[in-house]
Amino acid sequence: MWQVIGQTRAVSLLQRSLEMDSLAHAYLFIGPAHVGKMTLALNLAQALNCQAAEPPCGQCASCQKVASAKRADVQIIGLNHDANSAETKPRVEISIDQIRQLQHTASLPPFEGRYKVFIIDGAELLSIEAANCLLKTLEEPVGKLAFILLTTNERLLPATVISRCQRVELLPLAIAEIEAALNKVWGIEPEKTKLLARLSHGCLGWAVSAILDEHLLQQRAERLDELLDIISADCEERFAYAAQLAAQFGQDRGLVQERLDLWLDWWRDLLLVKAGSSGDITSVDRLDTLIDTTRGYSLAQIKGFINSIQTACQQLKLNANPRLVLEVLMLNIPEVERQREGNPAANLR
Ligand SMILES: [Zn+2]
Repeated sequence: MWQVIGQTRAVSLLQRSLEMDSLAHAYLFIGPAHVGKMTLALNLAQALNCQAAEPPCGQCASCQKVASAKRADVQIIGLNHDANSAETKPRVEISIDQIRQLQHTASLPPFEGRYKVFIIDGAELLSIEAANCLLKTLEEPVGKLAFILLTTNERLLPATVISRCQRVELLPLAIAEIEAALNKVWGIEPEKTKLLARLSHGCLGWAVSAILDEHLLQQRAERLDELLDIISADCEERFAYAAQLAAQFGQDRGLVQERLDLWLDWWRDLLLVKAGSSGDITSVDRLDTLIDTTRGYSLAQIKGFINSIQTACQQLKLNANPRLVLEVLMLNIPEVERQREGNPAANLR
């Protein structure tokens, strides 16, 4: 009863290791946010302590305790998982103190089950000291211990830590798989299922969050409107927007990255519509606007701006000056050429 949906390769690898009693003591689950890493990690924690003949059963007392986060032998360590912390300032990294606490707990025998399982959520956020400290435990595991590190970006982890873990990659699901899962479990209306499946980019967890929190879809709609305003704005407004985004970048890189991802989605949709593949677009709820917008651009202009967005993302990752990068991006927004309307030859140029 593995509950994670669609991750057949990862599940069969773990299942086989369980059956052959050849589990690694440390795993590194790699995949985009919301793809199912935590679900799979909790499933593995259940399997390691399950009392049934075919673990994880999901039904026995042990499995149920893990599912309801009541099992003392399964601990989650991360930025948002320290119940004992009295700190008021939000954390930006997993500290050495958290790892020392983990090591202390790991040195005690399991309270009730066979295995002690430590799940490190956002392992790329381990501070250098914390990663080095953890390394010692990963090198010399004692007793029935399992470590499951979850990360969206393994390149941010020290190679020494990666080399101590068995890598398990979780890939985004196909749109049809997400649609099927949403239909089966949530039974929401077809239009919304279609939209959520596309917006999720293969990460079922995102679609589920958007069902539970209406605010997410609303926020996306607002950001998309903002983007459309900027496309039709004059230079001064675009520069003001670039300055505003650059200021945000200093406080929250992720937020700016999300905007750029949204831009990329939008312009890719424009490209698909222009090329006659409307069936593959992400923003299925805005097809009319997409069709309308493509009339003003040539295929080359759309492709060119997609390249500009990708370049901007790359430069921001390489720590280029955010204001400069975003201003160049604003300058590269192609000019609408209304005369293209009614001239298909020009459209395909
Ligand atoms: Zn069980």
